[in-house]
Parts: sequence; structure tokens; C-alpha cells
Amino acid sequence: MEKPKLLKNEPSITYFTKNGLYLNVTNRCDNKCIFCLSNFSQGLKQYNLMLQQDPGLNEVWQDVFDKASGRNFEEIVYCGFGEPLLRLDDIVSPLSPRLKQEFSKPIRVDTNGHVLYHYSNRNIPKELVGVGVSRISVSLNAENCQVYNKLCRPNFIKNEEDSQAYELLLKFISQCFNQPGLKTEATAVDFPEGVLPRGIPVPDMEKCEKVAHDLGVSLRVRTYQGPRIRRV
Ligand code: SF4
Repeated sequence: MEKPKLLKNEPSITYFTKNGLYLNVTNRCDNKCIFCLSNFSQGLKQYNLMLQQDPGLNEVWQDVFDKASGRNFEEIVYCGFGEPLLRLDDIVSPLSPRLKQEFSKPIRVDTNGHVLYHYSNRNIPKELVGVGVSRISVSLNAENCQVYNKLCRPNFIKNEEDSQAYELLLKFISQCFNQPGLKTEATAVDFPEGVLPRGIPVPDMEKCEKVAHDLGVSLRVRTYQGPRIRRV
């Protein structure tokens, strides 16, 4: 992998991109995607997203309040260099109602969809709607578990044939789709030819679209914009 590009400014919790106010609430993740932006860069645009530690609730709230008050944006999105639902109980649940009250904007979560691995007995989509989240984007990224495991490398699978992570992700998408008040989409990354290293399968967008469609949701495809991935 290429070394991350260094940004000298302070780490950002709150950042602005694509007409949204984005919240970078952890750098922890239970995937290790070979295409993760954090493999190649310290951040996005001028924002350094490499946190020194997980910020506390008051720290996140103060940062949002200071940076977002008086600014125009269309939605609030939990999405950064990490998996935001790893902070479900200490950030997303307590913070979202305050965000809703202060800014009156739709709140979206961008997630890898593994949350059922951590909270198998909870109705997470219902909880999210209950705290004010109205949109969710779940990274599908592959048409089957073999491709998914090679691309996204979940840290809790036993081997590359282990379908647990992919099945939990599909189940979570289906639960979200069936939750009233939660607009759900699946997402996938389309890789230009020659970008992925040898031995890594290129996900098939048509097949991904069919998987998403069978779950009842649409697929939003993003084209990979990073450098060629040379080593895994
Ligand atoms: S799920 Fe997202 S944050 Fe986690 S490694 Fe993959 S791209 Fe990075």
C-alpha cells in the first residue's frame, strides 16, 4: 500500500462535503477493506480524519455546534475513517436527537452493516429511527461472500469461505428496508480495470444490483477514485 498522504492540520470530527455535514466519530472498524481511503490518505480535501482517539459525546457535540451553526447543509451523515455504529450507544443514540432538534436536517448513517454481529438481539433499525435517523446507506460491495471477504476483510471471519459477515450484512439491509421511516440504500464501489491487485476479484455491479434489488433496495454505485492498489 502507498503511505498515507500527511495533512498537518488538527484531526477533524466534523467535516463538510457533498452538501452534507459529516461526523467522523471513530477510526475503528471491523473491516479492513483493501480500498479504504484511510490506506492511502490521512483525510478528505483539507480535513485530517485521523483521530488520536475516539471523541466523547460532549466533544462531538461541541465540535458540531461550533462548526455547523449558521452554515448551510442538506443532511447530517455519520461517516468517517471508521464504522460509526461501533459508537451506537455512546454517540449515535444520544447525539442524534440533539442534532435533529438543533439543525432540523435529515440524519443518515453510512455503515458496513455488521452491527448485528455486535448486537444480535436488538432491533437496530427501529432504534435508529427512534433517535431521529431517517436514512441509511449500507456498503454491500460484493455479489457474494467470497468476493466480499477478499475485498473487505472482516476481522471476525474464520476464513475466506466464512459467510457470516456477508450474511449479517444482507440481513441488516433487509431489516432496514422493512423498518418504516428508514430510507435504505445499498452501495458498492466500482473499480476501473487494473486498479485491484492480482488475485482480488472485481465485484460485478450487475450482480450486486440484483442482490440489492432482491432485498428491496436500490444500489448506489461509486467509482473508485484512489490510486492503484499494489499490495495487500
Ligand atoms: S468499512 Fe469503511 S471504514 Fe471500514 S475499512 Fe471498509 S472502507 Fe474503511
